[in-house]
Amino acid sequence: MSHPVDNAVSAVRTYIERHRAAFLDDLVDWLRIPSVSAQPDHATDVHRSADWLAAKLKETGFPTAEVWPTEGAPAVFAEWPSADPQAPTILVYGHHDVQPAAREDGWNSDPFEPVVRENRLYARGAADDKGQVFFHTLGVRAHLAATGRTTPAVSLKLLIEGEEESGSPHFRALVDERAERLTADAVIVSDTGMWSEDTPTVCTGMRGLAECEIRLHGPDQDIHSGSFGGAVPNPATAVARLVAALHDEHARVTIPGFYDGVIELTDRERELFAELPFDERQWLHTAKSHAAHGEAGHTTLERVWARPTAEVNGIGGGYQGPGSKTVIPSSAMVKLSFRLVAGQDPDHVEKAVRAWVVEQVPAGIRCGVTFSGATRPCLTPLDHPALQSVVRAMGRAFGKPVRFTREGGSGPAADLQEVLGAPVLFLGISVPSDGWHAPDEKVELDLLLKGVETSAHLWGDLAEHWRHEP
Ligand SMILES: [Zn+2]
Repeated sequence: MSHPVDNAVSAVRTYIERHRAAFLDDLVDWLRIPSVSAQPDHATDVHRSADWLAAKLKETGFPTAEVWPTEGAPAVFAEWPSADPQAPTILVYGHHDVQPAAREDGWNSDPFEPVVRENRLYARGAADDKGQVFFHTLGVRAHLAATGRTTPAVSLKLLIEGEEESGSPHFRALVDERAERLTADAVIVSDTGMWSEDTPTVCTGMRGLAECEIRLHGPDQDIHSGSFGGAVPNPATAVARLVAALHDEHARVTIPGFYDGVIELTDRERELFAELPFDERQWLHTAKSHAAHGEAGHTTLERVWARPTAEVNGIGGGYQGPGSKTVIPSSAMVKLSFRLVAGQDPDHVEKAVRAWVVEQVPAGIRCGVTFSGATRPCLTPLDHPALQSVVRAMGRAFGKPVRFTREGGSGPAADLQEVLGAPVLFLGISVPSDGWHAPDEKVELDLLLKGVETSAHLWGDLAEHWRHEP
C-alpha cells in the first residue's frame, strides 16, 4: 500500500514530466526578450517582457493578469483567488528585468539566445530571475492537476517588478499605491538561491541597509601646511579619527544606540548555521580576501547573516595627485554603509549616527551628514506556519532534509513586509555557480524542475496548516 504523500509526490512528478518540454519552450521564449532595465535602448523590450508574462499568466489560468505601469519600467500583477474562504492569501514576488549582458563580456553563447548544455540552461535571466518566477506557472498547474482542483488551495497573487536590477526606484511607490490589491498573509520571494545542489535550504531573513556620506569641513579653502600646520584642526585627520573610532577592539560598532533592538540569534539558530557544510577556506577564496575578520564571539556565517555592520565604502580628502602639495585640506569625506538586522530601525540608526558624528568632531570642524534611502531588515521566525510549509514542500520535492540560511544583502521585498505587514519568506532553487550578473548565467534544469515541484506542493500545504478562523 502506498502512502498518500507518496501518491501526491508521484502525481505532481507525472504532471511535470508530461509538461516540462512545453514549459521550457515557453521559458526560452521569454529569455529571448532582452529586458535590460538599466539600458534605455531596451525600454521597449522591458515592456515586451511584461506583456509576454501577463499573457502567459492568463494562459496558465490566472483570471487576472495586468501590466502595472510605473514612472519607470512596468510590473506584472496576477491574481488567482481560492474557492476556499478560509485559505490564506500568498503574494509571490520576483522580477522580469535582467542585468545587461553582451557576448563580448565572455559568454560562450549569445546571452539572449538560450541554449542547453549538460542539462543547464544558459541565458541572461535563466536564474535571476525569469526561471525562478516561471517555475510557479507550471507549479500551480501541477498543483491543480494533482489535487483535482479548479482553483488553487490558497489565494495566489504574483507581483513581478521590472526594475529590480536598477535598484527598484519606483517599487515602493507602486506598493504604496496598490497596497489594497496586494494584501496578503505572507510574501514569498522567488529571487534567491539555496546553499548548493546537494543542500536545499530556505532563507529566513535578509539584512537591511542604511547609507550615508559624512563630509567634514575645516579651513574655508586649502591652506599652507607650513604657515598654519600644527595650529589648526585638519578635516582629513578628523575623518581618519572618526573611522578609527567606529569599531572597538572586538570589532563591535561603538556608536551609542546602534545595537538597540537587535534580535540576537537563538541557540537553535546558531546550531542550525553550524550544521551547514561551510568551508571557510573556500569562502575566503570566493571573497577574494586574505583573512576573515569581524565581531568577536561570532562565526563568519553569523557575521554576514545575523549581525549588523558598519563599513567604510570610500574615504578621501586633500591632495591625491602626483608628487606633493603641502596643504591642510579644506574638507574630507567618508561614505559609510550599515547592514541592519531584524529589530533595528533605520531611522533610529540614522539619529544615532548623526549624534555620534557631532560628538566626535573637534572644535573648528563643521560636519554635514547625508543619508540616502534605507532598506529595512526582515526575518521570519523558524516556527512560523508558512515557513514550516515552505520547508515541507521543499523537502518533498528534494527528498532531503531542508536547512536554513539567511541573506546578508538587502532587497525590495522589505517594502512588501513593511507596507503589507506580512512576513517575507524566500523560496529559491538557484545555486552559487549560476553566475548571477556574470557571463554564462545558467540555471540547473533539474533544480528548476524541483522548484516547480516545490511550488506544486506548497499551496496545498499552506492551506492545510494555516487557515483563517471562520
Ligand atoms: Zn534578482
